[in-house]
Amino acid sequence: MGRPAKLTLAFVLTAAFAISGRAETGPAPGPVRVIGSNAAGCIAGAVELPPEGPGFQEIRFRHSVFWGHPRTIALLELLGQRAHTAGLPDLYIDEISTPRGGPNPGHAGHQLGLEADIWLDAGPKPALTREQRQEIEVPSVVRPDGRAVDPAIWTEDHARLLRLAALLPDVDRIFVNPAIKQQLCQSTTGDRSWLRLIRPWWGHAAHFHIRFRCPAGQPECVQGPPPPPGDGCDASLRWWFDQLDQPPKPPSPPRAPPPLPAACRAIMDAPSAPARH
Ligand SMILES: [Zn+2]
Repeated sequence: MGRPAKLTLAFVLTAAFAISGRAETGPAPGPVRVIGSNAAGCIAGAVELPPEGPGFQEIRFRHSVFWGHPRTIALLELLGQRAHTAGLPDLYIDEISTPRGGPNPGHAGHQLGLEADIWLDAGPKPALTREQRQEIEVPSVVRPDGRAVDPAIWTEDHARLLRLAALLPDVDRIFVNPAIKQQLCQSTTGDRSWLRLIRPWWGHAAHFHIRFRCPAGQPECVQGPPPPPGDGCDASLRWWFDQLDQPPKPPSPPRAPPPLPAACRAIMDAPSAPARH
């Protein structure tokens, strides 16, 4: 979920794939199984989002990170269609999961094929080659001091995109920078129920992270609790801004990631299904 600086991320991913050798590994064959939690889990039978489709384009697809549960892929395609119908430019979709999910060093979450990063870019999208789409940079929509969105960059279309995403079926949560949540709290009129699913988190100033609920028929998928009732425009949001006034804390020692469920070992070690083409 958290996204370190891009260079660091690229380095970590490259190193991780070099070590694991999984970049070329396809999905584990067999029926779809989602195993574990957002913090530690995996997926078998994942499917891949096409590089582009109505209303969306993948960007920065150097690595094989566009795999997910078939319902996740269908809902991302639905979001592209709905954004297109609403007159919004193409979405820039980034990481979903690797073909079998599992931990991704330097980038929490994205382990079950149920989460995706979508860039907060509401500008018109020129027709770019796939090579050019590798190098896309999207600016933060948040002021450098973190206390509000940047009025020179934030537009009503950013809010429309987040609302469309939150109104998709089966959304568990959407993570955005606290300043974005605050802006939505202040500007949303009419139905505010969707704001409950928009949750503040560190970073997430140039992209949002969408997490879908455990799909039906997946008893091994560990579903976390729903967000608290209400629109979240309350003390829980103010807490994030209070942190900006606190002296910086010494970095906490790195914690060992939770162990993968035992069933994931077989998923990770299974031979790939034969290529379909
Ligand atoms: Zn993410």
